[in-house]
Amino acid sequence: MIKPVQENNCDTQDIAIKTFFLGPQSENKEWLAVELKSLFNGWFDWRQDKFKADGCAISDKNKQSSYFKEKQAHLHNTVDTLRTRLQQEVPTYSPRYIGHMVSEVSMPALIGHITALLHNPNIICEEAAIVGSKIEEEAISDLLCMLGISGTDGRGHFTSGGTVANIEGLWRARYRLDHFLAMGTWLNNKKHTNMSIIDAAHMGWDKYEELAKEHNPTEAELKQHSFVANSPWEVADKYKDAFGAPFKGGVVLIPGSKHYSWKKAVSMLGLGETSFRGVALDDNGCLCTEDLRKQITIALEAGQPIFSVVSVLGTTELGEIDPVDKVQDILDEFKHEKGVHIWHHVDAAYGGFFAALPKGVMSEEKDQAIRAMSRVNTITLDPHKLGYAPYACGALLARDEENYRTSLFSAPYITSDAAIPRWQRTLEGSRSATGATAMWLNSKTIGLNSDGYGRLLARTIRTREELARRVQEQIPNCYITPMDTNIFCFCIANKGESLKAVNSRSEEIFKRIQDNGNGFYLSKTSLGVKDYPKLINKFTNQWNANVDADHVSLLRVVLMNPFFSSTEMNTDFFEEFINTLKDNVMQKAG
Ligand SMILES: *Cc1c(COP(=O)(O)O)cnc(C)c1O
Repeated sequence: MIKPVQENNCDTQDIAIKTFFLGPQSENKEWLAVELKSLFNGWFDWRQDKFKADGCAISDKNKQSSYFKEKQAHLHNTVDTLRTRLQQEVPTYSPRYIGHMVSEVSMPALIGHITALLHNPNIICEEAAIVGSKIEEEAISDLLCMLGISGTDGRGHFTSGGTVANIEGLWRARYRLDHFLAMGTWLNNKKHTNMSIIDAAHMGWDKYEELAKEHNPTEAELKQHSFVANSPWEVADKYKDAFGAPFKGGVVLIPGSKHYSWKKAVSMLGLGETSFRGVALDDNGCLCTEDLRKQITIALEAGQPIFSVVSVLGTTELGEIDPVDKVQDILDEFKHEKGVHIWHHVDAAYGGFFAALPKGVMSEEKDQAIRAMSRVNTITLDPHKLGYAPYACGALLARDEENYRTSLFSAPYITSDAAIPRWQRTLEGSRSATGATAMWLNSKTIGLNSDGYGRLLARTIRTREELARRVQEQIPNCYITPMDTNIFCFCIANKGESLKAVNSRSEEIFKRIQDNGNGFYLSKTSLGVKDYPKLINKFTNQWNANVDADHVSLLRVVLMNPFFSSTEMNTDFFEEFINTLKDNVMQKAG
């Protein structure tokens, strides 16, 4: 269906990729050195010229002192030690590194990151970073546009990563639910209304504002019914009085493919781990919309408000894409037919950048899921994954101001939050501008569109397609899990073999490849039978396995590196990877 990877010197596609990265052999080192040199020179000049009349604090004579020279030599040697030490670090830049969700960072991102580092702005607020804050705004606006959200209406900020962004998404969902419940509790207590807890918890901002105008509660009155502002246990009693039933707590509806950061989010926000309601996965490991509808109905009928529905765009294990569009359709249906407003957060930490793909790389179905990110409440995006930016760079994005509001209980009649300082709206306090600046430069040079990132990511998907095809053709008894993007997971199994035996083989192959210093860097993962029953059933049926384990251990390949498919290097990575597998699989068999 999709053209095989072709590398041709005259191909602009190919040249484009080569201009984005330093290259596996530091091929672009002269270019990068010139940029870095002018960057440092510009920074030196800026400092020298800015308050020139102030004069120098460190004289030539100081520099000649023995103390100075001794310290200088010591620093030099220690830096040398450090540099050497880091050469033992995992070579994530190499096409041989296909382990976790990281690869060589882009040249613009590296330059952008270093540029910000030199000026060290703290984007905690505008006062501390006049330029850095503007750059963050512009970079966020570009990310929003990539997802099909208006760059002026949308809101967001950079975080240290996807974990924090996920917590922040749920934080905002909780904020909204808390406000709605506070309003409903107060109104019912005053006998102005006789809402059910679900009517209250999911009323929507329009209704909230309408009721606020009609009945005029003071901020203090509403605040007394907030479980964020008060002891949540005491407030639960108030809910009981107002809605006539003991409060059973709210739920988070989230598919079994969720990243472990969600456990942290639920734990930190005090929602309780039992608030997780797993949404079933289909046999491709994607959220099952029928089950979602069922779970929503169960929660609503039980009087348990839904903090948020979460879908995953690019799962951590398999890179699978949930039907975000169909999930939002269901939520829109609840909104329009029943007046039930349910929050939808998309964890697109890994897959969000696929929004830049040109048409036709993904199936129509997956394209629609990706395009639907513009319709949801909040989104997590990790530029330090497929944005090819250095760590730590994540982002939390919201469709508009309304969905960006946070947990500080104020203003019962919501007006404009724009005046609220930035630091009150981010979970983190002091924040580096490095991530924002890296993404700003990425966006302005590579481009968050089908010509830039789209081309790069399309290439990684084609690389995965070719490698998966060749592995399947050439490695006997190899079974591959479903693949939507540039990740694939596999295991080797003989007919009738028990899952336990297959799992220990995967572990052994992983260890052997890991121990072989110059080989490839893979990762391994495990899918629990509890989370992935349908997928595992279909997958293990292929070799008639006796399912005697509670999980499937898989070797995992993340094909992010743009040069894996290079035909100019001395190594054909496709060929060598297959040979590596052959060696290690056979060794086991023999
Ligand atoms: C990586 C990932 C996260 C967590 O991101 P960090 O940047 O590691 O904190 C969350 N969700 C998904 C789907 C991820 O792939």
